[in-house]
This record gives sequence, C-alpha cells and structure tokens, in this order.
Amino acid sequence: MLNNQGRPTSSGIAEANQHQTFTGNKALMIEEALIFEIGRTDTSGVDFDEPSDTPSMLGGFERKSEIGLPGLSEPETMRHFVRLSQKNYAIDVGLYSLGSCTMKHNPRLNERMARLAGFADLHPLQPIATVQGALELMDTLAHWLMELTNMPAVALSPKAGAHGELCGMMAIKAAIEAKGEGETRRIVLVPDSAHGTNPATAALIGFVVKPVPVRDDGTVDPAEVQKLVGPDVAAIMLTNPNTCGLFEKDVSEIAAIIHEAGAYFYCDGANFNAIVGKARPGDLGVDAMHINLHKTFSTPHGGGGPGSGPVVLSSRLAAYAPMPFVKKGKQGYALIEHENITAFGRMTAFHGQMGMYVRALSYMLSHGADGLKQASEDAVLNANYIRAGLADLMSLPFGNRACMHEALFDDTWLKDTGITTLDFAKAMIDEGYHPMTMYFPLVVHGAMLIEPTESESKAALDLFIATLRDLAISAVNKETTRFLNAPFHAPRRRLDETRAARSPILRWTPPEPIAIAAE
Ligand SMILES: *Cc1c(COP(=O)(O)O)cnc(C)c1O
Repeated sequence: MLNNQGRPTSSGIAEANQHQTFTGNKALMIEEALIFEIGRTDTSGVDFDEPSDTPSMLGGFERKSEIGLPGLSEPETMRHFVRLSQKNYAIDVGLYSLGSCTMKHNPRLNERMARLAGFADLHPLQPIATVQGALELMDTLAHWLMELTNMPAVALSPKAGAHGELCGMMAIKAAIEAKGEGETRRIVLVPDSAHGTNPATAALIGFVVKPVPVRDDGTVDPAEVQKLVGPDVAAIMLTNPNTCGLFEKDVSEIAAIIHEAGAYFYCDGANFNAIVGKARPGDLGVDAMHINLHKTFSTPHGGGGPGSGPVVLSSRLAAYAPMPFVKKGKQGYALIEHENITAFGRMTAFHGQMGMYVRALSYMLSHGADGLKQASEDAVLNANYIRAGLADLMSLPFGNRACMHEALFDDTWLKDTGITTLDFAKAMIDEGYHPMTMYFPLVVHGAMLIEPTESESKAALDLFIATLRDLAISAVNKETTRFLNAPFHAPRRRLDETRAARSPILRWTPPEPIAIAAE
C-alpha cells in the first residue's frame, strides 16, 4: 500500500476509492447535506411559547402559509456550519499559491485591533465629536498610503480593487470633462496582459478600450504606446508590476508619452506588494492607482473578509477625488462631505471599510517602514526561489530570469504528455495545495501563475517545490492516471464548472411534495 516515502501508491489510491463507506463519510471528511435536507420544517431550535393575546400590527399582511424554514437544534446548526467551514481551503490552513491575488498571512494582531469596541461598534451616522479616534486612524492610514506612493491625495472609500479602478477612472473622466475634452478623449489603452477588471472598468463608464500588445519579454513597449496615443486617448491602464510578474521597465517613458499626449496614467496597483518601500508610483509618473489593502497590507480576503481599494491621486487629479475625506482643523478631525465642488461625487454611501482600515494600519505600524520594505523583498525572494526550484522542469514563457512577486510558467513543458494545466492543478489538490492561478494572464498559453508571498517559511517553500517537482516528473513521464481524473481525495471530484456558471440551480426543491393538510 505505501511506497518507501510513506505515500499511498496509485494502487493504494484505487483501493481507497473502491472502499465505499456506509455513511459516505471518508474518515474525518464528513459529507454534509444542505441545511434544508438536515432540518425539518416542523422542528425548531427555539422553545418559546407562541405569543398569546398579542394584537398583530401588520395590518393584514401576516403570512398565512407555513414559512417552511428548516428547524435545527443549536448543536445541529453549529455542526452544519463548522463542517462546511472545514471544506474551505484558507490561508490559515496552508500555502495559497494563487498568483495576482496576494494571499498573505493576516496577523491576529490586526483582528484584535479591528475588534476594539471603539472601532468595531461605530455607527457611520454618529456625531463627529464621538468618532475622533476613528477619523484620526483614517487620516493616519491616508498619510501612510500617500507617503509610500509619493502621491499628494488619496480617496479611501472604494471597497475593493475593481471599485478603486472605477474611482480612479471616474476622476480621470471628470478631469477630462473639466477641460472640455469629454467628447474627444474616448479611448483607454489597456495592455493584453491586464486583469479583466481594467477593460471592464473603462467600458463601464463609456470609454472605448484599445488593446496594447505585449512584447516578447512580457512587458509593454513604449514604441507601441507611442503608435496608439493621440488627442482621442483619455488614459492608459497599466499594471506594475504586471500580471506576468515582471516590472514594467519602461514605465517612466510610457508615462512621459501619455502625459505628452494630454492623457492620464492609471496604474493598477494590485501588485504593490512587490515594490512597497522600493519604488514609489508617484516617482514613475502615475496619476491614479488603487491599492488593494486586502492584498498588500494583509487584510483578509477570498472568503475571509471584504476588500478595500483606496486610490492615490496625483496633483492633476486630486481636485476630482470623491467625497468624503478627513481633514484636521482647530476643532479636531472633520469629515468633509460637501465642500469640494469639483469632486465627481461619492463612491459609497458612507466612508468605506473601517474594519479593513484598522487591519491595514495595524499591519503598517507593526512592520514599520523598514518592515514593509523587507516584506516586499521577501515576497520577491520567495517567488524567485520557486522559479529557480522548478525552472529545469517547467517552462518559463519569458526566459529564466528574475521575476517580481510571482513566477509565471506556461504549458510548453506539458506538450505531448496528454496532461493540461487544469489536470496539473487538480492533482495539486490531492497533494493538499490550493492550485496556482491558471490560464491567466491570457498572453501566456496554459498559464500557471504562482505567488507564494513573503509569509511562507523556507521549509514550506521547499515542501511546495518538492511536491510540484514530484508532480512534474510524473507528468513528463506521462503518468496520466495521477492527473486525468484528479482530484481523487477531495470531497468533490471534478465539477462541470461551465455548466455551474451558465445554468446554476439556485432554488432547492424538496424531494417529495410537502403533504398539504386536507381542508
Ligand atoms: C485582484 C486584482 C484586481 C481586482 O481587485 P479586487 O479587489 O479583486 O476587485 C485588479 N487587478 C489586478 C492585477 C489584481 O490582481
């Protein structure tokens, strides 16, 4: 059953698969039915008596039929949700190699701070005099973001990266309209390697997207930008470091070309984790950039919490920043919500994701400027360690040279093996790893984008590399059984993801019709 490294052999796996259990459970991996299937409509976890002599205040709108919700006892409810949570892979469970996503450890200190009653129990409509500490925290966070990017203004309120893109592009649109160029500057240049949110954002607010081809080394060629710019171009949206894990080495030249043409430089800053403390976007000619607090500054995401996407703005755009913003005056901190008449409006009903601000600032203050710089250096080092550890087996589309915070492989090395990027990723699940980002960026065939982040130890990286090497050797040797029907050990095997997306079943219907009492 076990080979000499203590791992089940493929015949062992086959045997395990044949061994059906009575319950459907696999040892501690417990099958979990839907809450409607476990609970019963005629039971309840609550034992209050029906209220008597309480006149209805609903004016005849009371429900007449049974509500039909499943009733569970408290321990049943608890087990249901704990079992479901155990089916999740999380950064607190293991290495989460998703590239372009920065799934880094969120220190528990952040959680402690975010739960302090003075931050957690605030109401957005509370009198300003009672929330001075929260406003000071927002102001301090804004200061750190401006300092780290060398930009003079920041809009804190956007609630994620894509929302920040929308904010930045709306500021650009407002600036263009203020110059009377709203009708003529309609085009936004977006490199082929961009995250899908970039063209989507530009299109959403009425711009026409024009793609910029990526040259052979994975970066944008200023000569291509020069060819495309003109009086009809509003902006370029450039990601730096880009989604190939490479620093756009001609970024300053591209910025100069864009400014020369009277357009704006939007930088997608989702990959800021690679350059914090090393390079300042304000020095590179950026006019607007969102910062994913939930990627760069450790606040959890991916099922773990909401995002937050503050946007830093250059002096050319600062006047168009949305409301509100915090200002320090003689009476303490104030929230400016109406003053700036050139602001394009608001991004959110209130002030943004307070809990994320607290976590991000907690991370910044506990690291300090030197610690943030080291985190970026370690993120880049770790990605390069993985690149170097796999480069002899897996193919690198832009040659075996240093990357930034993520290592991008393609599927050239899988040619003629009958195994695809998807098969390889599914086999990683059997080994207990969340797969890397697959098939993105689109400029690379069968892309595998791996981002370890700085928070993995050398031992964790060594095991990850050893695992991927073991899989890669199997793949090159065409041991297809390990891949084609993988995962073997997950609670669910391969799902028809396309059908699930195209025709989702969103309504649960009881297996048997509920008996209706005879009149
Ligand atoms: C994550 C990401 C985004 C979008 O950010 P969200 O917070 O998910 O909306 C945009 N661009 C790049 C390059 C990203 O990695």
